[in-house]
Amino acid sequence: MVAVALIITAAALRIWPLHALESRIAWLTFYPAVTIAALYGGIFAGLTGAVLACLIIFFLWPVLSPTPFIKDYADWLGMAVFFLNCTMISGVAEAMRRAKTRAKKAQEEAEAANKAKSNFLASMSHELRTPLNAILGFSSLMRNDSSIPEEQRKTLDIINRSGEHLLNLINDVLDMAKVESGRMSIDIAPIDLGEMVRDITDLMSMRAEEKNLKLLLDQSSNFPRFVRTDGIKLRQMLINLVGNAVKYTEKGSIILRLSSRPAEAIDSQLLIIEVEDTGIGISAEDQSRIFSPFVQVDTHGLQKGTGLGLAITKQYVEFMGGRISLVSAQGRGSIFRVELPVIKAEEGDEITDTAKKNRKVLGLAPGQPEFRILVVEDEVVNWILLQRLIENAGLKVRLAKNGAEGIGVFEAWRPHFIWMDIRMDIMDGLEATRRIRKLDGGSEVKIVALTASVFKEERDNILAAGADDFIRKPYRPEEIYECMERHLKVKFLYEDALPDSGNKTAADLSYESLAALPPELKIELSDAVVSLEAARINEVIGRISELNPELGKTLLYYADRLSYTKILQTLHK
Ligand code: ADP
Repeated sequence: MVAVALIITAAALRIWPLHALESRIAWLTFYPAVTIAALYGGIFAGLTGAVLACLIIFFLWPVLSPTPFIKDYADWLGMAVFFLNCTMISGVAEAMRRAKTRAKKAQEEAEAANKAKSNFLASMSHELRTPLNAILGFSSLMRNDSSIPEEQRKTLDIINRSGEHLLNLINDVLDMAKVESGRMSIDIAPIDLGEMVRDITDLMSMRAEEKNLKLLLDQSSNFPRFVRTDGIKLRQMLINLVGNAVKYTEKGSIILRLSSRPAEAIDSQLLIIEVEDTGIGISAEDQSRIFSPFVQVDTHGLQKGTGLGLAITKQYVEFMGGRISLVSAQGRGSIFRVELPVIKAEEGDEITDTAKKNRKVLGLAPGQPEFRILVVEDEVVNWILLQRLIENAGLKVRLAKNGAEGIGVFEAWRPHFIWMDIRMDIMDGLEATRRIRKLDGGSEVKIVALTASVFKEERDNILAAGADDFIRKPYRPEEIYECMERHLKVKFLYEDALPDSGNKTAADLSYESLAALPPELKIELSDAVVSLEAARINEVIGRISELNPELGKTLLYYADRLSYTKILQTLHK
């Protein structure tokens, strides 16, 4: 229809206002008409237009005009060329149309796949983080139980540390997914940068020590102690960069250099962070690749990770308005440099107190009113864990296994505080929160959501539903206590931080002391370490301790930290 309309318009234009052309340049107005028809409707519309134009010129024109278009052989030839050209134009237009449709379909498919990936990751994150919550929670809880023998407490330490490691890996994959699906967000809050740096260097120097590397901190006096920034992201960047430096260095040292200078914007400062190592270095060709996800270059057999650390670091730095650069040469170490704008901390900024970390709660402080706590949670392990944590602190708990039951218990028992799981069958936590808020007395009760989701949308939904706060699974027991203290104004009695089991600094594991062991004990140690069975390893180390207590202690230190490679390397030097 469009083609027919266009051709008739083209013919009409020849009658007026182009009548002065008479029979000259016959096809002048028909070419654009056919082209537009082909672009609009594809090859079929284009060819229909061309045929119609030929019919008009051949049959209709002699009737309308005293000067017909087709007079001789050359005009016939002109018509044939017109038809051929129109066929080609229509063909090209059809190819373009098809390519466009294909691209659109591919884009829609990619968008659908991306959405499916995000949904998959969101539910995967839930599935993975929920059992981890139980592993981390129960192992911490048992670790604080003074009736547990020292040996078993060490095993619990290993479970806990391995769980934390697993959680870090899961978080890496999820972070990358968040970046890729454009769901990353920034949480600016005042942080104690000094404490963060100390924490990270403590953690990393243990790893460095195991490889006989030196980790040095070169902090200029202008490096600020308190700033406002996204502390979680900054911490992860530092851990990624220093962690890589330790991973990809075999001998020498790692220097973490920290300084700052005023930034362009008022009230902000530019942090300058450099991580320098004397490791394997990165060739010029690989330097541009390593910031892409999943890229790992030849690392001479050194320990590898997921290939996500640098990609995440770069995305974080850029998202926060900073930049990252690298100076390196193969075999001559690397310097990663991050320039990151942060906001200066204001006086009175409340810095989250992390000093309570790992402190055991003994019970309620004297003179506290009686608090009733409701736990709405459908997973058995998780409700047992929460129940124990709360009861250990001397508070009264009741359970509800879904949102609807939660509302019932709320009305009958009038709790002061509700721990609300979000994903539950029958009625989820969001709906239950909304309904409780509308009930009599529902606006006073404190509701804190428990979620395994890592996406910001979920957090916004939780707060919009009326929750006062939320805690992410897996949580540390201290987070649970700290949250109740904040919202309920309840006070707990804490025992001073428990000493870390085992000694913190290790003597060097010397080949000589291991070589002096009876040969069969050496073989047993080697076999046990290869088997990765903690109980078997500890049993052999126990027997070594009887012969050489000092060596036993050193071996325990490394075994506790899962540094099995170090033991094997020294044993078979
Ligand atoms: P991975 O989990 O493999 O460490 P990253 O994204 O953190 O992933 O790093 C990507 C790759 O970049 C690494 O596999 C390694 O080849 C290289 N790389 C990163 N940091 C260093 C470094 N300090 N020295 C040498 N190579 C490095």
